[in-house]
Amino acid sequence: MKGQIMSYQLTTNAILEYGNSVFPHQSIISHLPDKTRHEYSFADLYKRCKRLSNALITKLGVKRADMIGTFAWNHYQHVELYYAIPGAGAICHTINIRLSEQQIEYIINNSEDKIIFIDASLVPMLEKMASLLITVEHYVIINASASFKTTLPNVIHYEDLLEGVSDDFDWIESEENDACAMCYTSGTTGQPKGALYSHRSTYLHALSIMSPNAGCYSANDTILLIVPQFHVMAWGFPYMCLLAGAAMVLPSLNLQPDAIIQMLEKEKINKANGVPTIWLGVYEALKKNPPKEKLALEEYLVGGSALPQSLIEGFEKDFGIKGVHAWGMTETSPLGSVSRLQSKHKNLSKNEQLKIRAKQGFEIPGIELRIVQEDGTVAPRDGVAVGELEVRGVWVIDSYYKTASREKFSDDGWFKTGDVSTIDADGYMEITDRTKDLIKSGGEWISSVAIEIAIMGHDKVMEAAVIAIPDDKWVERPLAGVVLRDKDQKVSPEELITFLSKDFAKYQIPEHYVFLDEIPKTSVGKFNKKEMRKLYAEGKL
Ligand code: AMP
Repeated sequence: MKGQIMSYQLTTNAILEYGNSVFPHQSIISHLPDKTRHEYSFADLYKRCKRLSNALITKLGVKRADMIGTFAWNHYQHVELYYAIPGAGAICHTINIRLSEQQIEYIINNSEDKIIFIDASLVPMLEKMASLLITVEHYVIINASASFKTTLPNVIHYEDLLEGVSDDFDWIESEENDACAMCYTSGTTGQPKGALYSHRSTYLHALSIMSPNAGCYSANDTILLIVPQFHVMAWGFPYMCLLAGAAMVLPSLNLQPDAIIQMLEKEKINKANGVPTIWLGVYEALKKNPPKEKLALEEYLVGGSALPQSLIEGFEKDFGIKGVHAWGMTETSPLGSVSRLQSKHKNLSKNEQLKIRAKQGFEIPGIELRIVQEDGTVAPRDGVAVGELEVRGVWVIDSYYKTASREKFSDDGWFKTGDVSTIDADGYMEITDRTKDLIKSGGEWISSVAIEIAIMGHDKVMEAAVIAIPDDKWVERPLAGVVLRDKDQKVSPEELITFLSKDFAKYQIPEHYVFLDEIPKTSVGKFNKKEMRKLYAEGKL
């Protein structure tokens, strides 16, 4: 027997309708590429989205299920595109501006983008390849100055597109399982692959991030969205904020630590998101130049790579700001798990609590995790048994766009993450490595992540990344790339070895160290171990 409940379609139109009718006064603040500040309300967003959807159809001939690319920073126009493209029945394909030229060309052609909305400051990147982008019929330029010039064909300016178009427009209604957005993986191996999100997955993911065990957001919050809108839909925050009634602050290209700190102060931001590298930079800048007044920032949500326990500890001790660790992937929309303490942890020591918070956390409602061991069995949740993390749930892809390969899916339909993890008896998942980053030395596994996090706990170290290098005797040995906080305060390999020997067995401790100015990073700011491996592939230091 079916329940007698209305069939209410969970669409991005429904998100925007809700935000507009319940929180019309709430603000969206943008710090634009030219450093000017723009502020308007959810009600303004709503009207402009109606006009933009209308313009897409009447001026640019957009049809249902057309793919429309965005190549842009975080700002109000990009939020308009998040809603207006699906509002016109089309699919918002956010293109990662930090991918290689070859990858960008590949994904635009693979997705068959019909229109690309592009920030003026990013135009030179696409001008070079425009002749190869065969499906693109129009380029719409955002934030162009008066002197802007381009060789791109069929150019129209964003405000000119909206000019004279009415906001009296009925959304093109989609069914909740229709696609509304697409992101490609950042692809450190092979070509990037498309993850196509549905209206339903987007709606439910946004609701779940908002919930208290996850991001814990409400109409009392002002949130800084540092995660780029071109990376996994800014973790769904532009959708979540409309449901939560939270004010959004969008930094565009103003992502240097000092610019972020100024924004935190000026806009009285109390929550934020971002990858660890960004927060490490902000922490260092705050240490060098402590703020005169306590920041309004209460907590920052971190994912994308592991949040070092030392950073959680430092931020909290020095500035009273809480780091909240989360895990996710492009293929999981992205949020999968968050690490928050529970009432049963109240009486634990600070250090024990920190250890739990530094794990990747327990699954949020809508997601299931399991660990599959080398012999194919599901590991017990005992915090010890290790294997590949698999995930399934409401916002996890069931296949890649235009790809028949089932390589990343188990026979019973779970997604194989490539992360090597444990799950403890309380359900907290902890990543010990990527399958391809594990080091096997003399037949024993070494977790590169555990070692790099430990090295980053040394006072004088800012960043550390550990990779395997070939070794005649042991087949592989770990090599640590280390970035010091202060180049004049040298640390010797011996000092690091002694420091690590409190927590690691001798065979796990790297004997090879290289001191670098910077760890090579991927398009989304993670340690690029592939690049490091290339540099040290021969074991030459
Ligand atoms: P992406 O699809 O680019 O967001 O990358 C997803 C991958 O990033 C995951 O499979 C993990 O390897 C890594 N990742 C994401 N969040 C975390 C985290 N909190 N700790 C460690 N690795 C993470």
